[in-house]
Amino acid sequence: MKISKLKLSGFKSFVEPATLFIEPGLTGVVGPNGCGKSNLLEAIRWVMGENSPKSMRSGGMEDVIFAGTQSRPPRDFAEVVLQGATDEDDELEVVRRIERGAGSAYRLNGRDVRAKDIALIFADAATGAHSPALVSQGKIAQVIAAKPTERRMMLEEAAGIAGLHVRRRDAEGK
Ligand code: ATP
Ligand code: MG
Repeated sequence: MKISKLKLSGFKSFVEPATLFIEPGLTGVVGPNGCGKSNLLEAIRWVMGENSPKSMRSGGMEDVIFAGTQSRPPRDFAEVVLQGATDEDDELEVVRRIERGAGSAYRLNGRDVRAKDIALIFADAATGAHSPALVSQGKIAQVIAAKPTERRMMLEEAAGIAGLHVRRRDAEGK
């Protein structure tokens, strides 16, 4: 999966439509505290189908919509567009939009699709909202401070075997 372009509109602090081009190679995002670096990573996770408001540092999913400031009114929707290519080099455009009171809607290459269809595209371990490639702020400190059993759970999650325990318990009838 390659991401080549991101468009954000009304998403968190990105109130005005912003387009970012991601060139091949390494990309660094730098800026002062609070300028929106983490918000940008959260936008990538969100457009790939993240459904936990907590991992968006939000109380409810609508909190990702620009909430307004003293000088700017709040927005009534947030939209993130991800353009890129799959490992098979097929062009990909995913759009997620949330409106106040109306929930999220997804489009894939111009067609309305279900959240499930988006989840399937990003289902392999290397990409997707829960990919171990996306390391949130504070996660490293959490790994260091974790108890051995918690750390093992994190490693199993990263290795993609956490689900096997559930299936084993299920098979044992527990
Ligand atoms: P740091 O270097 O401290 O990690 P950062 O560049 O990662 O900072 P972010 O956490 O991405 O910064 O951005 C935080 C900013 O986003 C805050 O100013 C916060 O008010 C703003 N913000 C978050 N959600 C919203 C929202 N829904 N509406 C408006 N602004 C928001
Ligand atoms: Mg940050």
